[in-house]
Amino acid sequence: MKIGILAVQGAFIEHEAQITSIAARSVDQIECIQIRQRKDLEDLDGIILPGGESTVQGKLLRDLDLFDDLQKLILQGLPTLATCAGLILLARTLENDPVKHLATLPVTVQRNAYGRQLGSFTVSSDVGDINDFPLVFIRAPYITSAGPETKILTTVDHHIVGVEYKNQIGLAFHPEMTRDTRIHEYFLRKVKSWCSCLQCTG
Ligand code: GLN
Repeated sequence: MKIGILAVQGAFIEHEAQITSIAARSVDQIECIQIRQRKDLEDLDGIILPGGESTVQGKLLRDLDLFDDLQKLILQGLPTLATCAGLILLARTLENDPVKHLATLPVTVQRNAYGRQLGSFTVSSDVGDINDFPLVFIRAPYITSAGPETKILTTVDHHIVGVEYKNQIGLAFHPEMTRDTRIHEYFLRKVKSWCSCLQCTG
């Protein structure tokens, strides 16, 4: 499996460390690359969009001519894990920002939803079938509404902070900032079933 991590800005190293640590104890062959240019998008089996600053990332996606190919791959079903700014890039609508970016995920997201002053905080919550996961929030967004086919993975104080829609997982928090690898393992299982599905259909 070849996982590409968008590496134009933000916390991509932390995602790479999570994938590498899982790869070291996995029976599966897992390769991880950093995406900085169009050719890095070739032959990927999964993609990770990290946290950081969504405005900067969105601009760089366009400047580096990654935007169209990336959007196409996600719409074609490439498994995608997006955290924080990554979730903002995927959102179909932003509540407090006139721009939108890839717009592949049918949710409305509010940027900096906890206020700019509340820098970061951590709470524990279940995420889908994963129990008691440490949710690390850093100038985080939350999801104010989600389309009917969107599965809600987790909420904090009645706000949606994690969703799954088809091939896309969008999280307002940072699993890569913890030592807990269960969310990345879940994502890699999704990648694996997508790969075997492609083999079935030739
Ligand atoms: N507040 C940032 C934004 O709007 C996201 C913060 C993060 O990714 N930790 O892009």
